[in-house]
Amino acid sequence: MSLSVEQDCPQCAGSLELEETDRLLRCSFCNVQSFLGNTGPLHFILPRRQPDPFTIYAPYLRFKGTIYSCLHNRIEHRFADISIRGVKLSFLPISLGLRPQAMKMRFATPGFPGSFLKKATHGDDILKRAAKNLHIRDEEILHQAFIGDALNIIYLPLSIRDEAIIDGILESPLCQIPDGSTPFADSGIESYAWKPFFLSALCPQCGWNLEGEPDSVVLFCSNCNTAWQAGGNRFSEVRVKVTPTTDKEALFIPFWKFQVKAKGIKLDTFADYIRMTNQALVIQPEWEEMELYFVSPAFKVRPNDFLRLGTQMTISQRYTLDSSESIPAKNLHPVTLAHSDAAKSLKTILANSAVSRASVFPLLPEIEFEIKEYFLQYLPFEKTSHELRQIKLGVTINQRVLGYGRSL
Ligand SMILES: [Zn+2]
Ligand SMILES: [Zn+2]
Repeated sequence: MSLSVEQDCPQCAGSLELEETDRLLRCSFCNVQSFLGNTGPLHFILPRRQPDPFTIYAPYLRFKGTIYSCLHNRIEHRFADISIRGVKLSFLPISLGLRPQAMKMRFATPGFPGSFLKKATHGDDILKRAAKNLHIRDEEILHQAFIGDALNIIYLPLSIRDEAIIDGILESPLCQIPDGSTPFADSGIESYAWKPFFLSALCPQCGWNLEGEPDSVVLFCSNCNTAWQAGGNRFSEVRVKVTPTTDKEALFIPFWKFQVKAKGIKLDTFADYIRMTNQALVIQPEWEEMELYFVSPAFKVRPNDFLRLGTQMTISQRYTLDSSESIPAKNLHPVTLAHSDAAKSLKTILANSAVSRASVFPLLPEIEFEIKEYFLQYLPFEKTSHELRQIKLGVTINQRVLGYGRSL
């Protein structure tokens, strides 16, 4: 489900509506663009119809995304869209159910009257819960990756009225409070400090308007040729390399390239990768010196295509492509997957690259990757009737697949 959020324009206070995964807000009243700069989970509240200054906000963890599980002989992937209690209070509903869909959420800020209960559940717990629902029975899971659209916190408002705890959305009692008991005594109250950082979408370097789509996580400055991503209360610059083309109609598709330090295996060079994954390629002497980069799509796409593209692009780094730092002014597919999310996929891409699973899968639990360096690479794809084709690398993407990824 896609959740919507109501937010006042940080510039003119006009009322705006955005999707949970949107980053760039364009105000229809004052035309000013703002960018959500927060890097961790976003915090939302479900607003109640009858305001209560003594509202108690109970946190729920929400996850929407794909879970990739590497088992001994295959990789499974499932889509999950769930919420779980973030505090151990048994009278609370076990999930938010349809409540967030029935209304527009708001960003939680310290200004909301009431108290916020401290989150006692760890972010990993929701992922473990999501993994449990996969129905993988009696099979050892060698590696799991959670590539999320959203891993956020949503607060459910509660009230105490007539000796009962009231669900502030349904306005119905959750439980009676037994005489002499203090239901929230064991849950800490948080001195609540999280807030959204809305940055003016202006280039930090030259002041020009930054460009992007509502769900773009990287914005571009066409004036000084730079790219920017969320960095908390300011933008942080992204290094971009572009392969130029003379084809005026070509669409530039973004990929993240990661250089990693591998622990648990020897995987420093491209030759190491080709050997380890048993590719049917004759190892060239220069590959022994070539530093390995893992490549992942920098856009949302179906899991099968995600793994296929990540694998094909990683293998095809043996071809040398021209590289420029000049970002094309048009025909750029937006970057909708942050590098921090893409980085979680690297072990799964390694597993998916393995021709002989026996040589890689048993090692997965031991392998750890530390990101040494990353950058964004834009490659031109030629448009044919149904497909986009990277001629030099022989990699194709179905046009429909790109559109699908936008509406996940
Ligand atoms: Zn405005
Ligand atoms: Zn600029």
